[in-house]
Amino acid sequence: MSMRMAPSAAMQSGGRRAYTARMKRLVMSLAILAAAASLDAQQPAAPAANDPIRTLVSRLDLEKYKATIKGLTAFGDRREGTERNRKAVDWIEAQLKSYGCPTERIRYEHNPPARTGGGGGQGGGQKPPAPTIASGEVRSGPGGSRYRGITRRTGVNNDPNAQPDAALRELNREPSKPGPREEVFCTKVGTTRPDEMYIVGAHMDGHGWGAAANDNGSGTALVMELARIFSMPDVQTDRTIRFALWNNEETGLNGARAYVDQRASMQGKENPPGSGRYPEPKWLGMIQHDMMMWDHGMPRADGTWNPEQRPEADVNIEFQSTAKRADEAMKLAFFFREANEKYATDYPAAVGNHMTNTDSTPFMDLAPAISLRENERGMHTGAGWNPTWHQPIDVFSTFSDKDFRLGLNAAQTTLSAVAQLTNARLK
Ligand SMILES: [Zn+2]
Repeated sequence: MSMRMAPSAAMQSGGRRAYTARMKRLVMSLAILAAAASLDAQQPAAPAANDPIRTLVSRLDLEKYKATIKGLTAFGDRREGTERNRKAVDWIEAQLKSYGCPTERIRYEHNPPARTGGGGGQGGGQKPPAPTIASGEVRSGPGGSRYRGITRRTGVNNDPNAQPDAALRELNREPSKPGPREEVFCTKVGTTRPDEMYIVGAHMDGHGWGAAANDNGSGTALVMELARIFSMPDVQTDRTIRFALWNNEETGLNGARAYVDQRASMQGKENPPGSGRYPEPKWLGMIQHDMMMWDHGMPRADGTWNPEQRPEADVNIEFQSTAKRADEAMKLAFFFREANEKYATDYPAAVGNHMTNTDSTPFMDLAPAISLRENERGMHTGAGWNPTWHQPIDVFSTFSDKDFRLGLNAAQTTLSAVAQLTNARLK
C-alpha cells in the first residue's frame, strides 16, 4: 500500500505555530517516502504503466469470482457419478463456451471395487474430535510433510442429517453409481507455438453433503475466470493454454489420470499432418488449484478455529521433490511466487516441496507440475486446519470476502505467471 499525504491541509492552516508543526511533519513524511523509494529500487522491476499483464490481471473481479463459485454451489456437492455432477459439467461447459473458449470432453469409466461396510470414506463428521497437541514426537503427514503443533482429525462427512439445510440435503441425496464419466476442458490456441501448452486445472467434483464451495468451487471458478479472460477477443498468446475441470478427484484423481492415460502419448503431434493443429500440445507445465480460500491458521488448543482469515494468510504453491521433473517444477513454483510479488494485490505466496493428493500428481513425472492452495496439503490441511473440508459447512455463506479474496489473489498469481510464460499481449 502506498503512503499518501494531504499537503492541502498544511496550506489551509491558521496560525504560524500550527503551520510550522505541519511543515515539520511534512518534511518527515517526505524523508520516509524517500527511504521507501530507495527500498523500492532494490525490488524486482515494477511492471510498466502500459504492462499488458497488469491490464489482464485487472480484468479479474472479486464479484465475478464469487458469482461463479455461487453458480457451482447450485449443484450441491457435485459428487461424481450423480445427476448433479453431470449437470455441473454441462453448466461449466456452457460457461466456457459463452466466454469464447472452445470445449472438448474426456470420457472414461469409473468402476471402483464395491465397498464393504456403509458410507464411503472415513471419518464421521458428527462431533469434532478433541485436538491433538504436539508432544515432541515426529508425526508424519502426506507427501513427505511433518505435522507440527496442534492437529485435528479430518474425514469426510457421510451423514445426510449433518446438513441442516433441507433443500441442500435433498439435492445431495442421490448416491454415486459406477459407470461412464465425463469431464470438460477448453483451449486457447497459441499463435506461434500452438504445439506447446500449459494446463491450468481444478477438480469440479466434491463430497461431504455441503455445496463444495471451497473444495473445490474456489479452484474451479478460478480456472473458469482465467478461461474467460484469456479468451477475450483482444488477447493473444504465443503458446497454448488448456483449462481443465477434472472430475473424480475425490475418488483418487481418476479424471486427471484418465486424461494422462489417454493423451500423454499424443503430445506435440500435428494431426492431421500439415494442418497446423495439435490436439495435444507438448506439456510445458501443469498447474492445479484445489481449496483456495481458507487460511485461518492452526486449530486452537480448546478445539475451536479462528473464525476470521488470518492477516498472515498466503497462497501455498507446492511441487513434489520426489517427482522426476522436480527441478523444473521447483523453478516453475518460484516463478509463480515472483509473479505473485509483482501482480497479486493482497496476499503473498509461499513455496513448499510436498505437493500431494491432487490432480497434478499424475502429471508430475511427465511434466513440471505444481499446485496452488490456501494451505500446504500435508502440513496444514492434513493436520485439520480447515474445518469446512468435506463437511456440510462447505457452503457459500460460510466464507467472507477476506476468504474469497485469497482465492482471487491465487487467480492473480496464476493469471500473471501463465500470461508471462505464454507471452500474452493485447491486440
Ligand atoms: Zn479438493
